[in-house]
Amino acid sequence: MKTHVKALVVGGGAVGASVAYHLAKAGRDTLLLERDELTSGSTWHAAGLLPLFNMGYATSHIHDYSVKFYKTLEAETGLNAGFSVVGNLRMAQTQARMDEYRLYATTAEAVGIPYDWLSPAQIKDRWPLVRTEDLVGALYHPTDGYINPADVTQAMAKGARQHGAEILRRVQVDGYRWTGAEWVVSCTRMEEKGGNLVPSEERFDIVAEHVVTATGNHAQRTARLLGLKIPAIPVEHQYIVTEPDPALVEYRKTQPEHPVLRDADAKWYVREERGGWILGPYERNAPARFLYDVPQSFRADLFPLDLERIEEEYMSMIHRIPSSETVGLKDDYNGPICYTPDGNPLVGPAPGLRNMWLAEGFSFGITAAGGTGHYLAQMMVAGEAEIDMAALDPKRYGSWMTTEYAARKNEECYEHVFILHHPDEEREACRPLRTAPCYDRVKAHGAQFGQVNGW
Ligand SMILES: Cc1cc2nc3c(=O)[nH]c(=O)nc-3n(C[C@H](O)[C@H](O)[C@H](O)COP(=O)(O)OP(=O)(O)OC[C@H]3O[C@@H](n4cnc5c(N)ncnc54)[C@H](O)[C@@H]3O)c2cc1C
Repeated sequence: MKTHVKALVVGGGAVGASVAYHLAKAGRDTLLLERDELTSGSTWHAAGLLPLFNMGYATSHIHDYSVKFYKTLEAETGLNAGFSVVGNLRMAQTQARMDEYRLYATTAEAVGIPYDWLSPAQIKDRWPLVRTEDLVGALYHPTDGYINPADVTQAMAKGARQHGAEILRRVQVDGYRWTGAEWVVSCTRMEEKGGNLVPSEERFDIVAEHVVTATGNHAQRTARLLGLKIPAIPVEHQYIVTEPDPALVEYRKTQPEHPVLRDADAKWYVREERGGWILGPYERNAPARFLYDVPQSFRADLFPLDLERIEEEYMSMIHRIPSSETVGLKDDYNGPICYTPDGNPLVGPAPGLRNMWLAEGFSFGITAAGGTGHYLAQMMVAGEAEIDMAALDPKRYGSWMTTEYAARKNEECYEHVFILHHPDEEREACRPLRTAPCYDRVKAHGAQFGQVNGW
């Protein structure tokens, strides 16, 4: 077992595995520690969608890198991660939504992501099960789709090992101490007792020149161990899986799989799953969870389904795909999905700490993992990434940020995933937080306010 490494990665989800892969590939002596099993965090229950659509420049590059990288992994590792390149169809019910897509298309073009515009007639022609009479059009990405999240993580982990990295499971990081030159990381061997994962008596230290934390839903504990405040707090996210839809089964006898369908105005995504449909809504009132810590007993667990909360989106799926009306429910998932107030992950140097790097707060972590590993490794090895990573800089949230603020803003951000996004969008939750002395007087004169850095 390595006890002194150049780079230590904490967390064996999709993000940690990718960071370890890219650091090892760059020639860095790398060790990854996972407290449970690889993929036992949010990664195992993700729907695996890899949407290229993104309003941000850095995240577009990151997602683009991932999609291309995942297509190469099988040749490198021999592991097939089940990448179904079915494309991705974003439907618009209004002209305003189409305008939003046009705004997005400018980012896509800057990054080099291919896309097409489709009319309702073209959609109907290719995918007759989709109701189109109330659509204005759609944006279609032919090159993305979905992947098996656990398999792509295992493939990246295997690739990391092939490049010389070591991966230790059942080791939990419990403390970090900076000596002035290196990090001394306190570890506890974890063991299984009665179905629970509990700390054993075995404790040891690992010394690392650089540390990357990719601890998913455990980010609040990680922040506390590091003496930081970061707004990565998970929110509940559900998706349901239907029984096979006879109309879909019949259609698939002669036709290729549907693209991932997104009805942004109805706030859901849908994809095929074994002759049935997966419906993933971004519903209202999904609560934040684990504001302070993840209980030891919570491993690869799920929350109970809250069908009432997703009723509106369920009905709108039936509207859009009428054949799904009579199909029963087969399975459901309600898991924690990490968020930050602006929806971007926290990737880069940990504020105020040397050689400590954060890769936390991922809500599209399967999509973002590949690119995050690539660009974060560039920052660590070459001193900077080839793209501007400022939008993901962890220090964009300062000490003004409270736990309550992060939780409410993350709930709002989740609910806003499919809200129509305007340029310079401002959101309401937790405002005003910090105001200038002249706030009341300026307001009395009818001023409108935006928020910057909590002000
Ligand atoms: C229902 C649902 C559907 C989703 N669908 C999609 C989708 O379609 N596409 C998409 O891109 N994303 C999706 N997501 C989000 C995606 O699952 C996450 O963004 C992603 O899995 C985050 O990966 P991660 O590596 O950051 O975290 P995790 O997978 O949670 O991994 C973190 C790991 O760190 C370990 N760890 C924590 N603390 C320590 C410690 N102190 N010591 C050692 N190990 C530690 C944990 O055990 C865990 O294994 C979905 C999420 C949910 C809930």
